[in-house]
Amino acid sequence: MRLSVIGCGYLGAVHAASMAELGHDVVGVDVDAHKVELLSNGQPPFFEPELENLLARNVEAGRLTFTQDFSAIEGAQVHFIGVGTPQSESGAADMTYVDAAVTSMLPHLGHCTSDPEVVVGKSTVPVGTASRLAQTVEPTGALLVWNPEFLREGFAVQDTLHPDRMVYGLPDDPGAASKAQEAMDAAYEQILISGTPRLLMDYATAELVKISANAFLATKISFINAMAQVCDAAGANITALAQAIGMDDRIGRRFLRAGIGFGGGCLPKDIRAFRARADELGVGDALTFLAEVDKVNDTMRAGVIRTARELLGDHLTGATVTVLGAAFKPDSDDMRNSPALDLAVELARLAKRIVVHDPAAGPILAERSNRPYEVALSAHSALEGTDLVLIGTEWREYRDLDPAHVADLARTRCVIDGRNCLDAQAWKAAGWNYRGIGRR
Ligand code: NAD
Repeated sequence: MRLSVIGCGYLGAVHAASMAELGHDVVGVDVDAHKVELLSNGQPPFFEPELENLLARNVEAGRLTFTQDFSAIEGAQVHFIGVGTPQSESGAADMTYVDAAVTSMLPHLGHCTSDPEVVVGKSTVPVGTASRLAQTVEPTGALLVWNPEFLREGFAVQDTLHPDRMVYGLPDDPGAASKAQEAMDAAYEQILISGTPRLLMDYATAELVKISANAFLATKISFINAMAQVCDAAGANITALAQAIGMDDRIGRRFLRAGIGFGGGCLPKDIRAFRARADELGVGDALTFLAEVDKVNDTMRAGVIRTARELLGDHLTGATVTVLGAAFKPDSDDMRNSPALDLAVELARLAKRIVVHDPAAGPILAERSNRPYEVALSAHSALEGTDLVLIGTEWREYRDLDPAHVADLARTRCVIDGRNCLDAQAWKAAGWNYRGIGRR
């Protein structure tokens, strides 16, 4: 099939490359000239495992092209929209990019010879967006489907090619819904053949599935982080607690690791946008708990600063602090709303010198001007002469550090394990003053 993908960021670039990998003929459209140039050369504009090979292979095979020119979407049967929906000043989702993308697409719809032509929203949007956009899209003869994306950065290629489930938000008209569904099934044929469950629903429910899933995940993280604060105060151990409660199938073990909180380009903005939309719908009270979820998340960063003060006391002002990790999660270079990077900036106000290392995001940070921290090329060089180490992102390379070797590099042996990913006993045995989150 001929497909187009509008918006080639973390979601769109992976989606375009994955659809080409399934054998489709795909054109990706983005307004960012630099991104289009890189992608056209088969180079990912960001770090994501497996993406480089996938892009290179499919660009080379001629199945995958990128352009800034919207006319290139003419003749494609399915058009996926993956542009950004960042947080606006009010907290609501900024829909400017989605609306602009649809406006740019409109003159180029209606040229497809296969029936039906389908516009597929993948961006995370406020409930009600799809029915609004359907009114703009349908006069061209195309149908609209909302097909939210659940990929996790760091596993984006695998999650796109082997998703847990596929959600189609379909038009109300049964005839239109069944035609749209057929086109979607054809585009995703190989994914569905492998047994991926496909759930059919209305637009509003599909939009809500995505945003409520993110609200649940954020709540789960803040729940365990709140428990970590109680553990700290009570002298209990959050890791043992999480393991024990997680063995209950109703609770589940995943997403129960206490740490310095969630970040990235999705959870923080999505819970705020959800609250803003619920307010508009007159059910704001139902989601006030999400304000608490946000607050607990912020508290975790404040807790790290308090621990740094406790560990170094007055020496903090003259100290060198090493922050290991800048991305919001490992196997990604995404630093949007990153707790690790926020803490590096905050600590720079309190300490003499901050050295940051991140295996993927480091080179991007090094290019930034006016930053209040140094960027080290290796974890070991970042640790030389340090007084305090903060693990901000649980990259494998940090989990595998030899605490005895690192002890020789440090001036003062203090470590805050912001992701509870180190072997606390081994670090203590190597002479470190170790502090985890809820692990006193
Ligand atoms: P991103 O910022 O990485 O990518 C958005 C891309 O859209 C950019 O390349 C931008 O240049 C492009 N763009 C903006 N306006 C455009 C226009 N008018 N026409 C064409 N291109 C345009 O964002 P992202 O992380 O890929 O997220 C995109 C959407 O997907 C968001 O709604 C997000 O919430 C959702 N989402 C993201 C993830 C994720 O892990 N990143 C997962 C699921 C859902």
